[in-house]
Amino acid sequence: MSSPVALPVPQIPRRRPTAVREPLQDRPVEGRKRVLLAAPRGYCAGVDRAVVAVEKALQRYGAPVYVRKQIVHNIHVVTELEDQGAIFVDEVDEIPEGSHVVFSAHGVSPMVVSAAEDRHLHAIDATCPLVTKVHREAVRFARDDFEILLIGHDGHEEVEGTAGEAPDHVTVVNSPAEADIVEVRDPSKVVWLSQTTLSVDETMETVNRLRTRFPELQDPPSDDICYATQNRQVAIKKVAADADLVIVVGSANSSNSVRLVEVAREYGAKAAYRVDYADEVRQEWLDGVTTVGVTSGASVPEVLVQEVLQALAEAGYGDVEEVRTAEEDLMFSLPKELRQDVSGQRDERALGGRSR
Ligand code: SF4
Repeated sequence: MSSPVALPVPQIPRRRPTAVREPLQDRPVEGRKRVLLAAPRGYCAGVDRAVVAVEKALQRYGAPVYVRKQIVHNIHVVTELEDQGAIFVDEVDEIPEGSHVVFSAHGVSPMVVSAAEDRHLHAIDATCPLVTKVHREAVRFARDDFEILLIGHDGHEEVEGTAGEAPDHVTVVNSPAEADIVEVRDPSKVVWLSQTTLSVDETMETVNRLRTRFPELQDPPSDDICYATQNRQVAIKKVAADADLVIVVGSANSSNSVRLVEVAREYGAKAAYRVDYADEVRQEWLDGVTTVGVTSGASVPEVLVQEVLQALAEAGYGDVEEVRTAEEDLMFSLPKELRQDVSGQRDERALGGRSR
């Protein structure tokens, strides 16, 4: 086994230099200024587990620990882990042989697992168990020779990972419009699966259009769009109906965050924007606004939401009311590679993630 050597730092988007935030101004509007804060919002169980897995790997093995792709799609989380010694890469061939690598929450295809084995990497699989569930469905339906219509965004890491389980059986359907033109070999043996972080409404529109063309289309055994994505969409629908403006905290490459902006607009918000940080909230967004809805994607730490609330309070929106549509208490145990400490003792923290 060769010893690790320094490699060039990979080109993954980093947090921009810390900006000095201009305080927002408290300008008069007609009516009472307030914030409706959606709940649930922010970290889901799969993201929490993946982030803890990298932290735990760094504690146990020391820096550097390599991570294939962004562990979760949030620039702040990635930057904080980089500061602790994680190195993010695009592919495993960028990693020195024999190193530790964490696979991201979005999952990997069997080809990636095998490439890691070829490099004698010690892999820690932080794939969210709800993504793994979809992988298993793909394997099972492919074994039964079904054609799988995978509703999702081509090029997203999760879709690449799921499609990679059965490349000869999977066709990606990106949108309702694509449902009208996709071709299948045998319309009597077709099933649809989906990415976990899509808009529920748009996915059902795609499914309905597929079913018009393929009446024998089978459904997945259970929902592929995960509980966290669904819960955050239900909460923002309720908030959006009463909001002049919705602010979604989340990164541009976070599928579920971008979907929250779309859902907010669709469900009545007069305007909706996504921000990574509080200093991206623009004064003009608040012109004439009495009610601001706030939420965050499943990969967003709560501290970033609190910073947005603080900025809004400076602009007179200090009255915050939580709109809760569900309780969440799901937690996943850590990846199996991290469940035992070096002395072979079971690690208590491995019994259920942590809440933030
Ligand atoms: S958004 Fe859903 S599928 Fe993705 S990590 Fe969170 S719980 Fe898992």
